[in-house]
Amino acid sequence: MNIAVLSGKGGTGKTTISTNLSYKLSKLGHNVQYFDFDVEEPNGFIFFKPEISSVNDVEVLVPRVNDLLCSYCGECVEKCNFNALAIANNKMLVFEKICHSCGLCKLVCSAGAISEEKRTIGVIEKGLIDNLPVYRGVVNVGEPMGVPVIKALKKHIKESSINILDCSPGSSCSVIKTVENADYCILVTEPTKFGLNDLKITVDLLDKLKIPFGIVINKSNDDDNIIEDYCTDNTHTLLGKVPFSKDIAKKYSKGELLVDVDESFNEHMNDIIYELKKELII
Ligand code: SF4
Ligand code: SF4
Repeated sequence: MNIAVLSGKGGTGKTTISTNLSYKLSKLGHNVQYFDFDVEEPNGFIFFKPEISSVNDVEVLVPRVNDLLCSYCGECVEKCNFNALAIANNKMLVFEKICHSCGLCKLVCSAGAISEEKRTIGVIEKGLIDNLPVYRGVVNVGEPMGVPVIKALKKHIKESSINILDCSPGSSCSVIKTVENADYCILVTEPTKFGLNDLKITVDLLDKLKIPFGIVINKSNDDDNIIEDYCTDNTHTLLGKVPFSKDIAKKYSKGELLVDVDESFNEHMNDIIYELKKELII
């Protein structure tokens, strides 16, 4: 079972919920795996501090043009849907970072001038904390496309486990690629008008993808009705709340797993898990 954790924007508490939920479910005896799919800024390992057991490169194929065979006919340039090829001064230019590794240019080159070469764009790291396997994808600095790293990370998902997928913030291609096979999503939001606006965008996305979801209010305060009224009006499930607390914020900033060090947070996670179990058979 795949449970994705999303938020409309960064800093909402998505990783706090993902890491603590994974850890807590594992402690309760469930077979759980945690995945950090926020490949441009993965920070789940800050809280897990796992012992790293493997690091594997993520490679993509990019075209190489043999100038001796190329006739500069321009066929490959015309067919590339991503404008990753150009001819300038009788020289083929390949813009590797925007190449989507589709292989079409190689297919259309009747001169056989195009071969493919591997290029490393990131890594997949695996670690362990107690009995909980944790994975993260990390895209190299300056690489514009995280999706190949997300695809490589997804290969580690096991159907027999509860897989907690910590997504990128927002509703970009990376998020869509991560959640497309999710069985359920947890949307983490804050009780502000901006939070509600971002939440609605994510709800629209999940409605289009036809994925069921529940909502968690993080930094809960006297304005919770902003989110609660929206949930009631639209019959969305409210899974629970985590209160705004300076104490929690301090422990979070030290990179601590809150279920281990904050009893109040732990109780709120228990409530969220109780509601989650009513939604799902876990
Ligand atoms: S299709 Fe082949 S021959 Fe034509 S420009 Fe591209 S690489 Fe050169
Ligand atoms: S592999 Fe695809 S995206 Fe990359 S340069 Fe060739 S046609 Fe364009």
